[in-house]
This record gives sequence, structure tokens and C-alpha cells, in this order.
Amino acid sequence: MALPRLATREQLVAVLRKAGVRDERVLEAIRRVPREAFIPERLRPWACDNIALPIGDQQTISQPYVVACMIEALHLAGTEHVLEIGTGSGYGAAVAAEMAGDVVTIEILASLAKAAAPRLKELAPNVTVIQGDGSLGWPEFAPYDAIIITANSPTLPRPVLRQLTNHGRLVAPIGSLKEQQLVVVERSETRFTTRDLGPVRFVPLIGAGGFQLLDPARRN
Ligand code: SAM
Repeated sequence: MALPRLATREQLVAVLRKAGVRDERVLEAIRRVPREAFIPERLRPWACDNIALPIGDQQTISQPYVVACMIEALHLAGTEHVLEIGTGSGYGAAVAAEMAGDVVTIEILASLAKAAAPRLKELAPNVTVIQGDGSLGWPEFAPYDAIIITANSPTLPRPVLRQLTNHGRLVAPIGSLKEQQLVVVERSETRFTTRDLGPVRFVPLIGAGGFQLLDPARRN
């Protein structure tokens, strides 16, 4: 039987730095957020490995490198109002919350939203968890200085882009169920500028603006 991995957060930070994460504030946020608190107990020995892990409901906590790259691409200064679409375990929201003013995070699956809410209340009190379909954004609390979509969207969703402030940034995986690119979009007064950050693999964004995959009964 393979021995459990017992990497530390400090080792994870070293791995991310070597992999190309440059922003020291992002690395510090990764150092501070206890990833082990966001995963099932049986998987805790792997909490500080740079890998995605299952969190139930066929969903995953993202690979720390991907979380770091996405947050780095947003250029957060510490005061921003952030929207995250796809709470999952809540880990990404907690890391973003270390570097922003506040984070509103939307999760479509009730079981995951329910599990993430108390965890985030304790570990990242500037995060608000909402259960619902975030595929068209969350206009109630718009505009946002930064938006993170943590599930693969079939297109760059216009209604979500319109919820960005001027000079706001959005980061999202965009593509088909087979191939996706991580994309960062910056809004200016007159246009949206898009840049590719490379290929990635995410679970699909479902709901009105996403892929039509989920039995609606599973949302509640
Ligand atoms: N960053 C998260 C973490 O650290 O655990 C991982 C997010 S997981 C890769 C993507 C999440 O997006 C899943 O929990 C999935 O249920 C959620 N999701 C998919 N479509 C959604 C939608 N339309 N609105 C909100 N959440 C959605």
C-alpha cells in the first residue's frame, strides 16, 4: 500500500513558486488557507499536494496551481468586490478572500453550498455563500471588480461580463466538454480585451448559461 503523502503548505508554496506563480501575495494566501479543512477527512493526507481532489457530487476542489494562476490573473489589490461562480469546497473563495475586500460565491449544488457555508463563515468571514445558478452571474450584488468562474463555460458569458466594473477582470475556463482554455478578460471603457493563459480541465458549468446537463431536482 502506498504511504500517505504528508506535504506541508510551505512545501506546496515552493512547488507553486517553481511552477511559475510569481505574486507573493497569492503565495502568502495559499500559505494561510488550511486546504485540509475543505476536503473530505479521508483525503486529508493529500491536502497539500498540488492536485485536484474529489469533494462529492462528482465535483472537485481545484488544483492549487490552477487556483493560484486564476487569482494571480485578477491582479487583486486587497479592496475588491469579487464574484466567484462555482463555490465547490469553498477553498478558492477563501484564497481569493485573503486578497480582496469581499467575495460573493455562488454554488448550484445545494449539498456543496450547505457544506461550504459554515466552513467559510469560520475561516473567511468576508465570503458570502449563495446557493443558486450563477451561470448568468449574480446581478443583485453587481458590479464586481473581479469575477472568477471555476467551471468550464461553453462561451464567454456576455451577461456575466456586463457585471464587471470598468477596468474589472474576469478569469474563466472556456471551451467544449473536451477542450478548454483558461481565459482572462479585462474590461475598459470601450471594449473587452481577452488573453489565453493555456489549456485546462474543469468540470462543466451547468445551468441557464452553461451546459444543459443537470437534472434540476438535484439542485435542491
Ligand atoms: N474552486 C472550487 C474549490 O476550490 O473547491 C472548485 C470549484 S469546482 C471545480 C466547480 C464548481 O462549480 C462545482 O462545485 C459545481 O457544482 C459548480 N457549478 C457548476 N455550474 C454552476 C452554476 N451554474 N452556478 C454555480 N455553480 C456552478
